[in-house]
Amino acid sequence: MSVALESGRADTKIIPILKERGQREVFCGLTGIIWLHRKIQDAFFLVVGSRTCAHLIQSAAGVMIFAEPRFATAIIDERDLAGLADANEELDRVVKRLLERRPDIKLLFLVGSCPSEVIKLDLSRAAQRLSAQFTPSVRVLNYSGSGIETTFTQGEDACLASLVPTLSSAPADAPTTLMIVGTLADVVEDQWTRLFNEMGVHNVSYFPPRRSTELPRIGPNTRYLLAQPFLADTARALEERGAQRLPAPFPLGVEGTTEWLRAAANMFGVSTDTFDAVTMPKRERALRALQRQRPQLEGKRIFFFPDSQLEIPIARFLSRELGMLLTEVGTPFLHKQHLAEEMAMMPAGVQISEGQHVENQIDRCRSAKPDLVVCGLGLANPLEAEGMTTKWAIELVFTPIQGYDQAADLAELFARPLSRHLRLVA
Ligand code: SF4
Repeated sequence: MSVALESGRADTKIIPILKERGQREVFCGLTGIIWLHRKIQDAFFLVVGSRTCAHLIQSAAGVMIFAEPRFATAIIDERDLAGLADANEELDRVVKRLLERRPDIKLLFLVGSCPSEVIKLDLSRAAQRLSAQFTPSVRVLNYSGSGIETTFTQGEDACLASLVPTLSSAPADAPTTLMIVGTLADVVEDQWTRLFNEMGVHNVSYFPPRRSTELPRIGPNTRYLLAQPFLADTARALEERGAQRLPAPFPLGVEGTTEWLRAAANMFGVSTDTFDAVTMPKRERALRALQRQRPQLEGKRIFFFPDSQLEIPIARFLSRELGMLLTEVGTPFLHKQHLAEEMAMMPAGVQISEGQHVENQIDRCRSAKPDLVVCGLGLANPLEAEGMTTKWAIELVFTPIQGYDQAADLAELFARPLSRHLRLVA
């Protein structure tokens, strides 16, 4: 384990970044299946893993009961682990049975896990073999959700990166299009589509789409906006196909949403007058809604453990729009290019840490005595037992939080545990 200090250069200031390595307290990327399966409605996620993996997904999915679930685990048992059974044959049999029973599945993801990697089950070859067998009615892809050195949001990144090679190529003389990248609630997409259309921007697609048959085309005329900060591999794969990222902060809060939309508006030649006419009513309404949350949050001290990779944009929003004081903002990874606009907006003197050394972070958290701690599920209970008030980072990906209409909902996610704490001590 090691600790190092380096500097992250934002446009106007240098923010020191504490780099840490040590014990981690995170969920693996299988967790992403919970929101990905809700989004891509004709996809199925088959985890090739152990009973532990099955339990993780079931508990992350909570009490959701579906008549026809769209994720499952093909359990690798002792015979597979001991090499007594041919895991490929068993997998083919499970997939065949699944696809016979479920003709609604058009896209099947084989999701790798720690056990499938331990027995060196080659899921990319399995996906190619099965795709050849079931195309054109079903496409089979694979990605890895495993990992001790990963974060729970990386599952989405791996999934979307695996989808990029399947996008059709747009012709070189195709008109410029805008692709919004990252899994979003349908309600958020619908709001943005309306806003873009009102500005006169009509060539807008979403990746991932709601159905695998609606995958956008890609080429040198594709401009893309990241809607989530944890999509480094997906962004790289898109750029290898010719797409260009529009630099912007992330669409969290009024300010982030405005600058994110402005990046697209500038690209498509929307005038300032049109941009303001379309966005101003939404901005004003969102600001009024935020004012109602502000008294509960202003001046409160918040500490972020590294977990979701959303920490920096959320901290920027809470600090600049709600007056919260940032004691430490931990993030598992800091992508300097994707977060450059966010870093430029962070308050001077903020402590940012990258990576995890959980004992050191707990010590710093204890001495900071924050009013609110944002952390993973594994840390929340012990910290609550010590009298701290916590917020589960995972809620930030299960809740629609992007855009103007959701800015107050995002603020409320942080106000709620504070008011619960006040009721408990009253
Ligand atoms: S993929 Fe690995 S870390 Fe994730 S639940 Fe399965 S065994 Fe655990």
